[in-house]
Amino acid sequence: DAVVHWFKWDLRTRDNSALYLASQKAAEAKVPLIALYVVSPQDFEAHLTAPVRVDFMLRTLQVLKRDLAELAIPLWMETVEKRKDVPGRIVELMQEWGASHLFANMEYEVDELRREAKLVTLLSEKGMAMEVLHDTCIVPPGKLTTGAGKQYSVYSPWFRAWIKHVHENRFLLDLAGSPERNHKSARAKFGRLFECKVPEAPEGKRLSEQERKKFEALWPAGEHEAAKRLSRFCDEAVGKYGQNRNIPANSGTSNLSVHFASGTLSTRTAVRTARDRNNTKKLDGGNEGIQVWISEIAWRDFYKHVLVHWPYICMNKPFKPEYSNIEWSYDLEQFNAWTNGRTGFPIVDAAMRQLNHMGWMHNRCRMIVASFLSKDLLVDWRMGEKYFMEHLVDGDFASNNCGWGFAASVGVDPQPYFRIFNPLLQSEKFDPDGEYIRKWVPELKGVSGKAIHDPYGRGASAVASKAGYPRQIVEHKGARETTLAAYKRGIASG
Ligand code: FAD
Repeated sequence: DAVVHWFKWDLRTRDNSALYLASQKAAEAKVPLIALYVVSPQDFEAHLTAPVRVDFMLRTLQVLKRDLAELAIPLWMETVEKRKDVPGRIVELMQEWGASHLFANMEYEVDELRREAKLVTLLSEKGMAMEVLHDTCIVPPGKLTTGAGKQYSVYSPWFRAWIKHVHENRFLLDLAGSPERNHKSARAKFGRLFECKVPEAPEGKRLSEQERKKFEALWPAGEHEAAKRLSRFCDEAVGKYGQNRNIPANSGTSNLSVHFASGTLSTRTAVRTARDRNNTKKLDGGNEGIQVWISEIAWRDFYKHVLVHWPYICMNKPFKPEYSNIEWSYDLEQFNAWTNGRTGFPIVDAAMRQLNHMGWMHNRCRMIVASFLSKDLLVDWRMGEKYFMEHLVDGDFASNNCGWGFAASVGVDPQPYFRIFNPLLQSEKFDPDGEYIRKWVPELKGVSGKAIHDPYGRGASAVASKAGYPRQIVEHKGARETTLAAYKRGIASG
C-alpha cells in the first residue's frame, strides 16, 4: 500500500499543504509516501509555457528529488505525450504501487479543473480517493464577497476585505509542516522508483546549451534558492520597496515571481516572513515598504479569484464583453518591431530586450509595453499576452491575462480606455537618468541627457542613426487619436 502526492506547480517540500497532508496520511496508515511528477508536452504547448520556464521546472525537479530522497521519499517522474492520457496513467501508476490515496494542490485554470474532475471519477471507480487542497492563494477563491454577496471586480475594496479576512482567520498564515521521513522499508519496497531520472525537456521547449547555462546563472532553481532570495530581500530591500519598486534601473523588487509561479516558494511563507519583520506584526500597519509588498502579493490572489469566478477569461475572451468588437490591428511588421525591441521608443525597446534576454521584465515596464502594443499600435492585446507567456520564466495565466486586460482596458479593474500612457513621459518619470535604457539598448550608450528618451526628437539623431537605432515606428499623438476612435466604435457596436 502507499499514499501518493502529485506535484504540479508546487515544487517544494516546505509549507506545501497537500504534500504535508499526504505525508500525515501515509504515517498514520504506516505506508510509504511516493511523490509523482508528470511532464505533459501537450499541456506545455496548449499553455504556451516558455522553454525557460520548463527548464527552470526541470532544474527544480533535480533539487526536489534530492531533498525527497533524504526523507526516503521517491520522486517518480515520467512524460505522458497526450494530455488526455494523464489521468488514466496516474490511475495505472497508483494501481501498480498499490496506492489508495492521491493528494494534490488545486490549480484553478479550466483545463486543470477538468483534468482533476476526470481523475477523481476514474479513481473512485477503482475504489481510490483523491484530495485536492487550496494552497496557492493565501485566501482561497470564493471566500471574499461584496456586501451583495458577489465576487469583487475592483482591487481596492477586495484588498480591504482580504486584509480583514486574514486578520480574522489567523490560521491562513500558519505554515504546513515538512513531510515526515518514510520508513526504511520504503527503499526495499520501491527501490526502483528512487532510480528515476529527471526527464528531458520536450521537443519545441528545449534551450540551446548556451541558453541553458545563461538561465541557470540568472535563475538558480529550487526552494533553497527561493528561501535565500526571500530572506535577502527582507533584510536588504523590503523596507524601501515603496520608493524603489517603480524604478526599473533599481533592483528594488524581490525577483521572486518565478518562485511563486513554480511553487518553489509559497506566498504564505513570503507574507509571513515580511510581516514578522514588521514591528506591528500586522499586514496593514508599520513599515510602509512591507505593507506595499504584501499588497502586491495580494494582487496575485486577486487575479486567481477573478479567474475562478469568471473562467471564460481562459478562452481568449476579454473580461468585459462590451470590448469584444474593437477592430485590432494584426500588422506583423509593427508587432515584430515590438517583440524585437526596435520600435524607436527607447523605454519600450529596453523593456522588450530585457524580456528576451532574461525571461523576465520589471512590472512598470510590463505596463508600459502592454499599453504601447495595445494602445499605440492598436495590436490585439492577446498577441502580446501570448508573446509574454512564450518568453516569461514566471509566466502565470491569471497574472499575465489580467495584467494585459488592465493595460488594454478590457479586463478587471482596468485602466480607463481613454487613459493612455505616454511612453515618453513614462520614460522620463521612471527612468529619469536613462540608466535602464542604456543598459538594455547599447546603441544609445553615447546619448546623454534627456535625449536618451527620444534621441531623434531631441537632437541625438546622428549618434542614434550611426548606431543603427530605429526611428519611432508610430507617432504617439496621432496613434492616441486613432485608438480612442477605435475603442469608441468598438464599444458602440459591442
Ligand atoms: P515584486 O514587486 O517583488 O512583487 C512580489 C510578488 O507579488 C510578485 O513576485 C508577484 O507574485 C506578485 N505581484 C506583484 N505585482 C503583481 C501584479 N501586478 N499582478 C499579479 N501579481 C503581482 N506576474 C507573474 O507572476 N506572472 C506573469 O505572467 C505576469 N504577467 C504580467 C503581465 C503584465 C502585462 C503585467 C502588467 C504584469 C504581469 N505580472 C505577472 C505581474 C508583475 O509584473 C510581476 O509579478 C512582477 O514584475 C514580478 O517581479 P517581482 O517578483 O520582483 O515582484
